[in-house]
Amino acid sequence: MEKIEDKNLWYPYAQMKTRKENFLVKGAQGVYIDIYHSEKKEEKKLIDAVSSWWCAAHGYNNKEINEAIKNQIDKFSHVMLGGLTHEIAQNASKKIVEITKEGLNHVFFSDSGSVGVEVALKMAIQYYKNKGDVSKNKIISLTHSYHGDTFKTMEIGDDPDYHFAFKEFFRDCYHIDAPKGLEANDDEIKRCINDLEKLLKEKSDKIAAFIVEPLIQAAGGFNFYSYKYLNEAKKLCEKYDILFIFDEVATGFGRTGKMFAMDYCDFTPDILVLGKALTGGYIGHAATVATTKVFKEFYSDDSEKAFMHGPTFMGNPLACSAILKSIELYEKNDYLSKIKNIEEIMRKKLINIKSNKIKDIRVFGATGVIEVGNSIFLRGLQEFAYEKGVWIRPFLNYAYIMPPYIIKEEELLKIINVLEEWFK
Ligand SMILES: *Cc1c(COP(=O)(O)O)cnc(C)c1O
Repeated sequence: MEKIEDKNLWYPYAQMKTRKENFLVKGAQGVYIDIYHSEKKEEKKLIDAVSSWWCAAHGYNNKEINEAIKNQIDKFSHVMLGGLTHEIAQNASKKIVEITKEGLNHVFFSDSGSVGVEVALKMAIQYYKNKGDVSKNKIISLTHSYHGDTFKTMEIGDDPDYHFAFKEFFRDCYHIDAPKGLEANDDEIKRCINDLEKLLKEKSDKIAAFIVEPLIQAAGGFNFYSYKYLNEAKKLCEKYDILFIFDEVATGFGRTGKMFAMDYCDFTPDILVLGKALTGGYIGHAATVATTKVFKEFYSDDSEKAFMHGPTFMGNPLACSAILKSIELYEKNDYLSKIKNIEEIMRKKLINIKSNKIKDIRVFGATGVIEVGNSIFLRGLQEFAYEKGVWIRPFLNYAYIMPPYIIKEEELLKIINVLEEWFK
């Protein structure tokens, strides 16, 4: 008889009774994760194909980020940001403003992407309240979007694979289609824009914001779509007076081939959310960045117009030192050209994998996806890849590669070869 008292550590997205034993990690450096397999009594180095849920942009154990955090830890590892401040958070906010689009000037830190999105939504709703409009408090999002696992982010997300246990709570959000695929034609984009306009015509007096994962809808199934849609959607947001929020928790810091997905667009979103790779994957932290247009409505002699939110660990000095060093590495080591190489290799090699189990293969920036016709075609892939020295974690119908940007050509080719062999 199994002792459930032994299950002290409760794992994410897992049926604790039937799950397979997780691989035990003993260390990690560069793109490699060191595994000890207790059943087989073997040590193995795996190439991480997924950057630990897309955050480990520099791989693991980066000397310079380690050093930055160690230096900070000897000064102080944390103080509250209420009533106190420190240069490391001030500098991190300044740096984020510097590298993001013109107009995004005000950085609110929090501890995770989900909370960063919650902060953005609260800002949007209170923005209208502060302007004297209390009826604009609903949110529009895209079908198959994922914005986090907290309550409001589940609600605006449209991803029943994550949220099915709570679906009866979620009736208070509008979902509209994103165009399917980067190469969606102008008619398809027009159709989706018309849907948005139809909704706004009817309901804009109740709507505070439209939130999107720009260009890559990640956890909801890796739909890639065109910036042209976003440019058109922005015009409607202006016309019907709603805020446009970009959740770049996944797309930020190079994943789409530019530093931010918004850099493809010809406008600045009203609110931007960053997370995951923000700290180079070192420590959970998020930044919700508001334009001055938004910030202005909170900036007042009236204390009730203040933004009443304050995560205990916001602006954590260790996180901020990782943020600063991580961004410095992007600039110093020309990450965008590394990302371009990754994209080119995947375009040449990944796209050529052939199997009648495969429905589609697509590549955008440092993101490559194989979509299969049925999720059973990926069952066992994780163990197969382990044997070959690759860590990959497919979900539903998707096997994807989102490697650390420091990956070498031969390491990336190895990941692609493992996938090719799997489908043979
Ligand atoms: C991962 C993710 C989140 C949630 O971030 P957490 O740090 O896991 O809370 C939010 N939005 C998007 C687009 C994400 O990919």
